This record gives sequence, structure tokens and C-alpha cells, in this order.
Amino acid sequence: MTLSEKDTLYNWHPYTQHKTAFPHPVIIKGQGALLWDEHGKEYVDAIASWWVNPFGHSNTFIAKAIYAQLTQLEHVLFGGFTHEPVIQLSEKLSQILPSSQKKFFYSDNGSTAVEVALKCALQYFYNKGEKRTKIIAFENAFHGDTFGAMAASGISFFTDAFQGSLLEVVRIPVPTVGNEEKAIKALEDLVKTEEYVAFIFEPLVQGAAGMVMYSATVLDQLIAIAKKHQVFTIADEVMTGFGKTGKNFACDYLEQQPDMMCLSKALTGGTIPMAITSFTKEIYDGFYDDDTNKALFHGHTFTANPTGCAAALAAIQLLETEEMQENINQVHQQHLAFAERIKTHHKVASTRVLGVIFALEIKLEGEHDYYGPLRNKLYSFFIENGVIMRPVGNIIYILPPYIITDVQLEKIYTTIEKALASI
Ligand SMILES: *Cc1c(COP(=O)(O)O)cnc(C)c1O
Repeated sequence: MTLSEKDTLYNWHPYTQHKTAFPHPVIIKGQGALLWDEHGKEYVDAIASWWVNPFGHSNTFIAKAIYAQLTQLEHVLFGGFTHEPVIQLSEKLSQILPSSQKKFFYSDNGSTAVEVALKCALQYFYNKGEKRTKIIAFENAFHGDTFGAMAASGISFFTDAFQGSLLEVVRIPVPTVGNEEKAIKALEDLVKTEEYVAFIFEPLVQGAAGMVMYSATVLDQLIAIAKKHQVFTIADEVMTGFGKTGKNFACDYLEQQPDMMCLSKALTGGTIPMAITSFTKEIYDGFYDDDTNKALFHGHTFTANPTGCAAALAAIQLLETEEMQENINQVHQQHLAFAERIKTHHKVASTRVLGVIFALEIKLEGEHDYYGPLRNKLYSFFIENGVIMRPVGNIIYILPPYIITDVQLEKIYTTIEKALASI
């Protein structure tokens, strides 16, 4: 049996209808922005393997830091013990995150980072004896696939089967250009009722919705409204964090600061699964008490894994180099030039660019499902042409590793042009 046949025999892939899915390419090597399958076919990883890998595949700087940590102290339980990598990492984060973020809670993935934030918001009010139980989120949000995160998510086919088993979440419109006032009004009406513990959002860019963007100005206004009514603000930077938007964090574009932040994906440079939820001192103090029952009874076995922390420290070190900042700027400039080149194409409805993120909406009649026929056709076209992209509905987006070369980027752009010609 081939590897591919064995894969089909044993493995259940994410977001996959196996009855209609094609066999999955078997990837055997990665280097920089490139991946190779078992037949030697080369792919440009145009989406940094689901937004996790800014510094390139098989990065030796991070690999060395991981090896050094594995052979010094690979893991120790974080309940009752601590270690140097986690202390260094938290100290580093306290320096590079918005200054409101003072305390750091470790978990394993973006969904758990969101779960922790939501649980903390709920328990904070419980500890104070205040009855607040609801959450506010944007339409079409994506915050992960565990139950709390799923409740906050608004893309219906991810969550339809579980309605009735979810936390109570009320949605407000996304404040894209022209919808700002609607969003502000909706939030104002909700927070007045004092029933809500938190407002969770993907700052500036809704990733899974198709890189939908809105301004820092309107987010500042929304955060200010929530704060005025003691509704905690949760910036889910799982996708946007660590340079994607052109600044270290999307929140760096804001005047306001969130009460909590969720980090994962690029945190370890795409090497070891890890996530962090960060908090203000005020939230931490809501659990700080002589009463044991007021503590946060949440934890994961591998929480603050030293090897993950060492990988994150190395990744942040890379992010902070002048060279990497220049790479980010370079990708951004190329995206702007491509947007200029493609925007008058008769099949292009609109383009948008922020940092290393580029998105393009295709102009076509009718509705296009998230995982519908158009998306599937485009997806297959890109794979055939050696470019890994996951269009959503009628939206094609690029979020490449920062170290991608101009030639590799140009290959992505020309493949998009060919794809447009093919539909
Ligand atoms: C991917 C993502 C998550 C979920 O992260 P997982 O690691 O897949 O659980 C949460 N929030 C946002 C904004 C994301 O993009």
C-alpha cells in the first residue's frame, strides 16, 4: 500500500468530507516557504501552513533552541513548579504586548486560549457575586472549535450541529467600511443591559471569514464602549499576532488596550503547539483571594511546556531582527503592487492588504459557499499548480511566511491570475 492509501485507511482529516475528498499529498520535506511531496513535486506554502509559520519551514535557529531545551529539561509539570524558559517568555511578552497585559496563562492551542479567556471573564463576575453570563462577538467570527470558542464563532456550518449546547453569545455586525455606526449602536444597546461579561473579537482582520478587515479607529470606539460598562474586551490575536498585520500585534494599531489577549499559531514559529492567554492585573486580582474556591481551576497537562517556551523565545528573537522586519515590509510592498496590478481585472470585485495579508474577492453571480464548488475548483487548481492556498467561498487570500522570496511570491500572484482566467 502507498503512504497515501494508508492515510486514507487510517486518518480522519480536519474539515474534510472524506467521501468526496481527493487523496492528500504526502509532504516529506519543508524548507523556507517551500514544501515537497513524496513524488518530488514542489509547493509554495502561500498560507504559512494555516498561518503558523512566519520564519520558514525547518528553521534551524528555532530547531537548535528546541534541541538544546529538549536535552536540558524537556518538560516538567507547571502545577507547583516553574522553570526558566517560561519565566523568560512571560517577561518578554510583558515587554512586547500592550502594557495592560501583566499576567500570562499557558495552554496548547488557539481554542484553549479562547476558552481560558471566556472562563476567566465568566468567573471574574461569579467571584464578585454579580450575575452576568453572556458574551458578545462579531458576526462571522472564528475563535476555534472547542465548545466555548465555538459558541463565540459565527460561521454557521462550523457550529450548526451544536446549537443548544453552547454558551449564550450575542452577535454584532462587523464594522467594515460603511457598517461602523451599525456595529457601534448594536454594542451600545447590548452593554447597557449589564448582562455581558466580555466582548471578544479578532482585531482588524477576521481570518477564517476570508481576511475581512475593519479599521483601528472603529475598534477603539467599540473597546471604549465596552470598557465604560465593565464588559471585558478580549483581543483574539491567534491569527494576527507576531507580525502578520505589519506590527507585532494588531492591537499595536489601537489607542485603547484590551483586557485579555489570545495568542497561538505563530507563537512558536510553527514548531510546537502552544498558546497563551494574557490578562490585566485587574482580572488576575479578581481571582486573588484567601478563598481557594476563587482560584482559576483550569489547566492542561502540557501547560507551559519548557520546549515550547524555548521555541517561542527563539521565534520572538527572529521576529525582532531588522532583517525579519524588512521581510515583512517587503512582502507588504509586493502585495500592494499586486493589488494595484489586479484590481481592474474584470473578475475582481475588491482587494485588501494589511501587513503580509492579501485578500481578493472574486466577482461572480450568486452565492458561494465556504466549502462550495467554486472554492473546491480553485483549491484544486492551486494544488495542481504547486501553490498551497485555501480559498473561502469567493475569496482568495495569501498569508505567506515572511521569508518568502520575490520569485516565490510572483509565482503565487501569476497562479492567481491563471486561476481567474480558468473560472
Ligand atoms: C485558528 C484560530 C483559532 C483557533 O486556534 P486552534 O489552534 O486551531 O485551536 C482561534 N482564533 C483565531 C482568530 C484563529 O485564527
